[in-house]
Amino acid sequence: MQPRTIMNNVAILDHEQTITRGHIKISNGTITEVSDEPFVPKSSLEDQDIVYDHEGKLLMPGLVNTHMHMPMSILRGVSDDLPLDRWLKEVIWPLEGKMTREMARAGIGLSLVESIRSGTTAFSDMYHLGRDDAHELAVSSGLKAQLTRGMITAFSNEQENEQKLQQASEFAKAMNNDSSGRLRGALFPHAPYTNSLSFLHRVRDVAKNDQLDVQIHIAETAKEVEEHVQQFGKRPVEHLLGEEIIGQGSLLVHSVHVSDDELEQMREANVSVSHNPQSNLKLGSGIAPVEKMVDKEIVVSLGTDSAASNNTLDVFTEMRQAAMLHKGTSNRADAITADDAFKMATVNGSKSIGFHKSGLIKEGYDADFILLDANTPHLQPYRHRVGTVVYAANKTDVTDVYVNGQAVMQNRVIVTLDEEKLLYEANRAQQELLGIHE
Ligand SMILES: [Zn+2]
Repeated sequence: MQPRTIMNNVAILDHEQTITRGHIKISNGTITEVSDEPFVPKSSLEDQDIVYDHEGKLLMPGLVNTHMHMPMSILRGVSDDLPLDRWLKEVIWPLEGKMTREMARAGIGLSLVESIRSGTTAFSDMYHLGRDDAHELAVSSGLKAQLTRGMITAFSNEQENEQKLQQASEFAKAMNNDSSGRLRGALFPHAPYTNSLSFLHRVRDVAKNDQLDVQIHIAETAKEVEEHVQQFGKRPVEHLLGEEIIGQGSLLVHSVHVSDDELEQMREANVSVSHNPQSNLKLGSGIAPVEKMVDKEIVVSLGTDSAASNNTLDVFTEMRQAAMLHKGTSNRADAITADDAFKMATVNGSKSIGFHKSGLIKEGYDADFILLDANTPHLQPYRHRVGTVVYAANKTDVTDVYVNGQAVMQNRVIVTLDEEKLLYEANRAQQELLGIHE
């Protein structure tokens, strides 16, 4: 028998089960057994197993962040309290124009260590810079990642745009075929308002030909929808669905301003949604009709968006926000339940970005999980339910992060990346970008 890793004497929880004190067995990166009793070796062969005693800890699926822009973490704190269009045009785009490859790399490093410390085991990242660095560092980090090369083509010529599309497609295919098996790719035109309709048609054709999924920021603000209707006579989601630019397998980021008809079309087309409640609130973009999406069984997951518009990459906070926000807008305490929010942050997220055997603590699933220190007042009394995690836990409770059964963080120490060096580089990169000499 092959030696196995056993996580013993631990509370276990996912949206399907709660175990007060049990163990899981892991072999070759896969969960092979989940038990509601502590592990006691029965034979000498089992003595070879590596057994970790996690007394007082809670084991749950790792969180999934289905939307972020890693290089932008070096822009954290440079601009707060502006609406999206002014934030982009007056602050973010001019600074991004000056961002070098090294600066983007520093942002990626910072995002990865923040994600690990926040209990994230898989994420989706879109940006136009630093894709080779994102690839290299994501592999080193040990996390699962969907990496995309974003496309903004409204300000460049047709030849340049075609090149951007080819590069994005090559990159997506390389991610899907990466030897680590922990990466995924997709095509990500930034938004309908930063790409022409004819370019989006090209994206559709290339996606079909190369069998790639499409993601897009869409219906983020009322202004975007209004201007789209003026230009095309249709709302953006119904328009792009009708043109088959988005459809089965697509992840629609934001979807804040969608009509009831569009929600029905989204359900029929089987698209999924990345709900980014904090970013939408902070930029004053509005509140997505997530309650209606859940009623229609549209797969909703959670994203932080960038650390420049949030300002963290903490999915625990998004989960709580998603559970709270829609109760407030509907005056219904069960509008989005703790279970709904927990599913969004775990199994729905995994599914939405192409990791179909992740998000549950279950035999046959990838061993992607986190451990929380439950010996802390806000998680006591020691009787765990999904509601305790959603409404009381936070990222500082995370002690261990495992992906495919491999340790990424153990006892609060990140074992895959040099955290101190990455934090130093991120600070230096921001100072250089802002022209600060200290
Ligand atoms: Zn975004």
